[in-house]
Amino acid sequence: MLNIGCHLSVSNGFENMGKQAIELGGNTFQFFTRNPRGGKAKDINKKDTDALLILMENNNFSKILAHAPYTLNPCSANERARQFAFEAMADDLKRMEYIPNNMYNFHPGSHVGQGVDKGIELIAEVLNEVIREDMSTTVLLETMAGKGSEIGSKFEELKAIIDRVELDDKLGVCLDTCHVFDAGYDIKDNLEGVLESFDKIIGLSRLKALHLNDSKNPLGSHKDRHEKIGKGYIGLEAFRNIVTHPALKELPCFLETPNELEGYAEEIALLKSF
Ligand code: FE
Ligand code: FE
Ligand code: ZN
Repeated sequence: MLNIGCHLSVSNGFENMGKQAIELGGNTFQFFTRNPRGGKAKDINKKDTDALLILMENNNFSKILAHAPYTLNPCSANERARQFAFEAMADDLKRMEYIPNNMYNFHPGSHVGQGVDKGIELIAEVLNEVIREDMSTTVLLETMAGKGSEIGSKFEELKAIIDRVELDDKLGVCLDTCHVFDAGYDIKDNLEGVLESFDKIIGLSRLKALHLNDSKNPLGSHKDRHEKIGKGYIGLEAFRNIVTHPALKELPCFLETPNELEGYAEEIALLKSF
């Protein structure tokens, strides 16, 4: 069975996101840990997170995915911005222990002119500070489209970060289909080749989740504009191949397509029908 869900709003609480995921036909979901543009996170209500854990247990949920605010930049040239990224991630990971053994995804960041090597070094530095031996969460680096000076649009860059992290058993990768396609990896006509190169460079055992998004732009465009499943340049057949691929079909999948809840329910049903 396909493990699938979509991005939901955390503002209605954790148990409600679980209920919503079920209503939409899914068995997982993604949420922002705090306002995507940063800022303070709402206090966690333990009754609410406990209720979610019971719901997940009773409804065959796969792991759920928390997403860090996308404005965090662990490799900013600005020391204060890096400090903010560190504080927000450390706080998020502490809060994740209310829903243990799940996953936390973040965008590696943009080196803003310092160069890829320096960026990789700074990202690893933050990860080495926030990843603790006693935490149960797996931290995922998201594959990026390569917009501006984004790091993580090449598998080699993600591997270089992972190699610099001490507690790397708590690190994985979340592959975003729109991002890798925009980065130039042809998952439409050469999925096998892309997975082979992921395996050779990073290792498929690191792949822990998928973001399923079609792309408004052609291969290699470095744009990062998500499209509804089957309505973009990646196309429906590619998504059929992805969700049925032996190396991918067990992974939790998360839709981040431009949809309201109804549209998400339709896409979930469509993907499950494969
Ligand atoms: Fe993301
Ligand atoms: Fe994504
Ligand atoms: Zn994106």
